[in-house]
Amino acid sequence: MATILIVEDEWAIAELLYRNLSLTGHECTIARSGERAVELLEQRAFDLILLDLMLPGIDGFAVMERAAGVSSVICLTARGGLHDRVRGLNMGADDYIVKPFELPELLARVQAVLRRTKKTDRTYRLDQTHIDFEGYSVTVAGEKVELTPQEFSLLETLVLNRNIALSREKLLAMAWGLDFLGDSRTVDVHIQKLRKKLNFEDRIKTIYKVGYRLEDLKP
Ligand code: CA
Repeated sequence: MATILIVEDEWAIAELLYRNLSLTGHECTIARSGERAVELLEQRAFDLILLDLMLPGIDGFAVMERAAGVSSVICLTARGGLHDRVRGLNMGADDYIVKPFELPELLARVQAVLRRTKKTDRTYRLDQTHIDFEGYSVTVAGEKVELTPQEFSLLETLVLNRNIALSREKLLAMAWGLDFLGDSRTVDVHIQKLRKKLNFEDRIKTIYKVGYRLEDLKP
């Protein structure tokens, strides 16, 4: 879990980010203007800032100046805004995403930046299952469970995108890479194994005509 400040004046995008990052276990705050972002940054530190560069009033670059050295920053830039991207990276941004973006790509980049800056917990617990992503180990009720590298990678993808439905194609690409020689049936087989080994029969949901979702909604 990380604290994330979403600085975005387009409400639909801010909402989408807020909803999905919250679902994946992060604590999010939205600032709809640069002024508001600066105000919030004076009050507290965030682990990560998702920063739209094109804002009315105080723009993203000015916000980044305030955030430098305190928070990691991922810039959101418009397509073709190469100059902005370069300027953002030169100012110390950790990464950038070009709008419009695909949600799984954004979540993966957020995770990568948090991992790099060690601001994320690399363990995960659900029911009796405990996963240590750093040490590649899984226990269920304290008992060690052996997973193949493919199963482990699929599990990590499900956990990082928890509560979000992922198609078989997306799971294939995200967990094992586009050059992996397998088809959607391969995903089904590995999902079955994960369910069984981790007692996740009720946790890994089959989404009709879509794919799968790991369900972990905190009450
Ligand atoms: Ca904007």
